[in-house]
Amino acid sequence: QTPIESKPDWLRTRAVVSDTYQEVRGLVREKSLHTVCAEANCPNIYECWNDREATFLVGGEMCTRRCDFCDIATGRPTEYDVDEPRRVAVSIKEMDLRYATVTGVARDDRPDGGAWLYAETARQVHELSPGTGVELLIPDFKGNPDALEDVFSSRPEVLGHNLETVPRIFKRIRPAFSYQGSLDVITAAAEAGLVTKSNLILGMGETRDEIEAAMAALVEARCDILTITQYLRPSKLHHPVDRWVKPQEFVDLSRLAEEIGFAAVMSGPMVRSSYRAGMLWGRAMVK
Ligand code: SF4
Ligand code: SF4
Repeated sequence: QTPIESKPDWLRTRAVVSDTYQEVRGLVREKSLHTVCAEANCPNIYECWNDREATFLVGGEMCTRRCDFCDIATGRPTEYDVDEPRRVAVSIKEMDLRYATVTGVARDDRPDGGAWLYAETARQVHELSPGTGVELLIPDFKGNPDALEDVFSSRPEVLGHNLETVPRIFKRIRPAFSYQGSLDVITAAAEAGLVTKSNLILGMGETRDEIEAAMAALVEARCDILTITQYLRPSKLHHPVDRWVKPQEFVDLSRLAEEIGFAAVMSGPMVRSSYRAGMLWGRAMVK
């Protein structure tokens, strides 16, 4: 390993195992439920599950796109499971979640890009668990207005679409997306009256000025909530880590983000875009 590949000390979490965490974990095991939190070994699981928050993936395990930071396999999906929204909604009910993030792969093999799966999951969660907040973290559906409208009309508490990086390196990092196209998804969601959210991953070669410009572009696009995270390289085949952003820089960027107009911000080395998402939504709502 080169020095840049070895993780600094601050990228460690302490596990505080609470009763609520144990209860949620027990339910997940007993009922064989699938969560991104457990299956991706997310280090934040003790905190998020203690808050009764978790993340679910829809659309299968194979993505039709390839982003240079993402660990999900690229290929041609073989299944399209119309029962998946119901199963996710049942899992959320069984785990007695307060807030659930639903994300998934890009399904460019489908005419609607898989939009129905996201929309139907939000509808079914709302029906089965009226008190549970739903955050949909969506791909861009190639900007297809009908697909976006279907998703927006399912009225998720938060509509997330991640910008992830800055224009100069965007094409290399997210070849099947576009910087402006992603900003447009956020604006369209805001125009539909939804609370909007996005994420920036640091450590992929961007400069501080470029990060600040991307933050300003997100505010301009009417993004309400921002998460800022550290890039971790899933494998040698993925984009190299350019730097480990110091904890203080995350604090500084968080302050700046609030100053320039974000309603709620979560910024830190261990943050993921779904980290304590319900708490962050609550913070945005009181603004
Ligand atoms: Fe990963 Fe999403 Fe990119 Fe697919 S579209 S490779 S799931 S980040
Ligand atoms: Fe689950 Fe996201 Fe929290 Fe990780 S950060 S435990 S994936 S909700």
